Amino acid sequence: MLIKNVTDFLEEKYPLSLQESYDNCGLTYGHKEQKLSGILFALDVTENTVKEAISKNCNLIISHHPVVFKGLKKINGSTMTERVLELSIKNNIALYAIHTNLDNHKNGVNKRIADKIGLSQLKILSPKNETLVKLCVFVPEDAEPALSNALFKSGAGAIGNYSECNFKSIGKGSFKPNLNATPSVGAINKKIETTEVKVEYLVPLARLSIVLNAMNANHPYEEVAHDIIPLLNSQQDMGSGMIGELQEPMTTRSFLKHLKATFNVGVIKHTALIYDEINTVAICGGSGSFLIDAARKNKADIFITSDIKYHEFFDANNELIIADIGHWESEQFTVNLLYENIKEKFSKFALHLTEENTNPVKYF
Ligand SMILES: [Zn+2]
Repeated sequence: MLIKNVTDFLEEKYPLSLQESYDNCGLTYGHKEQKLSGILFALDVTENTVKEAISKNCNLIISHHPVVFKGLKKINGSTMTERVLELSIKNNIALYAIHTNLDNHKNGVNKRIADKIGLSQLKILSPKNETLVKLCVFVPEDAEPALSNALFKSGAGAIGNYSECNFKSIGKGSFKPNLNATPSVGAINKKIETTEVKVEYLVPLARLSIVLNAMNANHPYEEVAHDIIPLLNSQQDMGSGMIGELQEPMTTRSFLKHLKATFNVGVIKHTALIYDEINTVAICGGSGSFLIDAARKNKADIFITSDIKYHEFFDANNELIIADIGHWESEQFTVNLLYENIKEKFSKFALHLTEENTNPVKYF
């Protein structure tokens, strides 16, 4: 098995285009054609993580947090990032990060947190904007079903809980093939007018190149007339944070106890407990202060996240309980999520969960 078998599988499921602009997901170090001996899964990569990979005969580390976020000018061992890279390069350990593309996915980091808490009726808290396009394809009527089937299979035409969605209108198309053309209908140098269907599909930008390949492979014409139109619609099933309901309301104190036990948190920092009972819960694994407004507007009783600064706690505005459970604590189950994804696909391959707790924050 090669590195690319694993990374292609992950990127098909969690496209790199879902990552935020500041992020640096993907293969940080290594070569896609490299043969794999084993994979170690970790939240962060420290020097100990690399040593653990070596000791477990793993030459790929898949981590949630990227080792390198910004440009490096030197690698002389003066920072942890430099030492991790140096150690990885010397021992030929490939590094792969799957970060905000996993955060923004409906079956990613936040879905796992929601499952652990026991939430249902899940929705994305802040859906991603401008990640959808409309594809309009002009096709002879009899060729439309096969084309649509191929496009649906490649990821076009999904809206929320509905699949295989399109809109069709019938009209007349005309064209005149030149000497170099090999038309499927009509003849060289003769203008032809024929009945065509205009079919419209929603396509996530992340799937566009796959959908276009399917379109070209399943359309009878040599030149496929089509439009790709950027949309301002938001993609309801992709984006930051999640919000859901508890199966049964819990008293606020017992809910906080439930959080402490589930995430094995030393301490929860929270704003005033303005509600006696918790029904609606917003979550964001990792640093989530940018979603406080969204949690309030979506009428969450409590927002569970981490890395809230002093002044940001005031943004609860007596309309929300903010609970900071710690960054590592909130994302700790991500490693299992990645492990299970790969295990399902490559069941016989050597996969290891890290035994190292990389949380740099300790509680006294
Ligand atoms: Zn994080």
